[in-house]
Amino acid sequence: MRAPLGRINNMDNKSNSSKNHRGGLSNGVTISELRKKFVTGEYTPLQAVNDALALIKEKDGEINAFLDVYEDALEAAKEATERYKKDGDKAPALLGVPIAIKNNILIKGRKATGGSKILENYTAVYDATIIEKLREAGAIFIGSTNMDEFAMGSSTENSAFGPTKNPYDPARVPGGSSGGSAAAVAMGAVSAAIGTDTGGSIRQSASFCGLVEFKTTYGAVSRYGRMAMGSSLDQAGPLTNCVADAQLLHEVMAGKDKMDMTTISDDTYPEVPIKDKYTIGVPRGFLKSGVDKDVMEKFESTIKVLVAAGHSVVDVELPLFEQGLAAYYISMPAEVSSNLARYDGVRYGLHVEGKDLLEDYMKTRAAGFGAEVKRRILLGTYVLSAGYFDAYYGKAEQVRNMMRAELAGVFKKVDLVMTPTTPAPAFKIGELSDPLSVYAQDIFTVPVNLTGIPAISIPMGTVEREGKSLPIGVQYMGPHGGDARLFALGKLVYDTSLS
Ligand code: GLN
Repeated sequence: MRAPLGRINNMDNKSNSSKNHRGGLSNGVTISELRKKFVTGEYTPLQAVNDALALIKEKDGEINAFLDVYEDALEAAKEATERYKKDGDKAPALLGVPIAIKNNILIKGRKATGGSKILENYTAVYDATIIEKLREAGAIFIGSTNMDEFAMGSSTENSAFGPTKNPYDPARVPGGSSGGSAAAVAMGAVSAAIGTDTGGSIRQSASFCGLVEFKTTYGAVSRYGRMAMGSSLDQAGPLTNCVADAQLLHEVMAGKDKMDMTTISDDTYPEVPIKDKYTIGVPRGFLKSGVDKDVMEKFESTIKVLVAAGHSVVDVELPLFEQGLAAYYISMPAEVSSNLARYDGVRYGLHVEGKDLLEDYMKTRAAGFGAEVKRRILLGTYVLSAGYFDAYYGKAEQVRNMMRAELAGVFKKVDLVMTPTTPAPAFKIGELSDPLSVYAQDIFTVPVNLTGIPAISIPMGTVEREGKSLPIGVQYMGPHGGDARLFALGKLVYDTSLS
């Protein structure tokens, strides 16, 4: 039996009180556990949806994970319950499983706000491809989750609809921008939620809320129907209680899509073999840039467990990763400024009347966007302007290419690279007021999006802060197309510790 690498309920059990404030349906319940019970009829989708709705009613007043709750999910739950009676284990893989969806992913007929006032009353007119796929697999959408406006942020404090609180300590943030999705799972309302990751949003939120998160190789999951933030960085992914569930959801969502020309097929990258034992690189130089002492201690003990389990852990050099944040905060706002041009008061959502068309645009955007979104549009427009394009945007894109090349060299020597997911545990709501210190939270996650590689974040225990046990995560990165390898490692080191 392998030593647990980090299930938060198993590790640190002396001080961990996470079980106590989780409750209800999911309380760490996995999709496969739910599925088994649905098949035998010991527990039904109808009970699951009822329990989820009750738990949301009880806890979400405080947590604010949900922007909308779909009471009519009960209809789908009734149908799913009947279908299990007929089809048993032949029923689709996710039949009757309640799932929460980040509010920048379109579900036809539901409000899609992107966490922004500018879309406060906007209703989606079509389903995102991943929604179609999840629906086909039988998932039941229970509600939409809160998020930083248009996914810009690391704390969910940038939502136009108030911050989400971390279920482990409501004085703290759940991470962001997928904080609502993370809190929805961590508070026990659902076994899984879908988030989006442009620079680490899902990994960081999962890490702050003690969950597993998977960010796929760029292009493996369709972006059609997902509000664009940085199109060359954006990917949707699952937040779950175990790696097997993340894999299941990912496999349902993945695949080439004629509606998204950037989607890749299975043979785009050379096969990345699955092994029993891996060589894992640690970029020690990169970690020097300010990791919290307690987080570093947990990281070192995670390495020891890996070594004891027969993997080899070696030092690697990734000096360009240190430029990741700088490159990200140029490339990303450039793409943001262009993607958000569509919110002009004519095509979608809010419209504020001015004396002419130009004034309509200006008044609508001034009233509809929050401060962080405006900051990034300004920055993005600046770095793309004729006089500065080469100096900023062009340079950042060069750095991205060089980072890719540097990584390719490292992946010739090691199978995976590992870092803590975040430099520190969840911070307090309102604690980080200047944007730069919030941006610094993304230091370990942005290189993954910039280079398009896959990564998984897995809980690595908790650290104590003011009498509360706060979860933290470890991130494993794989080469392009190495998604299956990350699931294999994750199941070896994490899921085996859950049983
Ligand atoms: N925190 C990062 C940002 O604000 C990443 C957010 C995301 O992945 N959506 O850009």
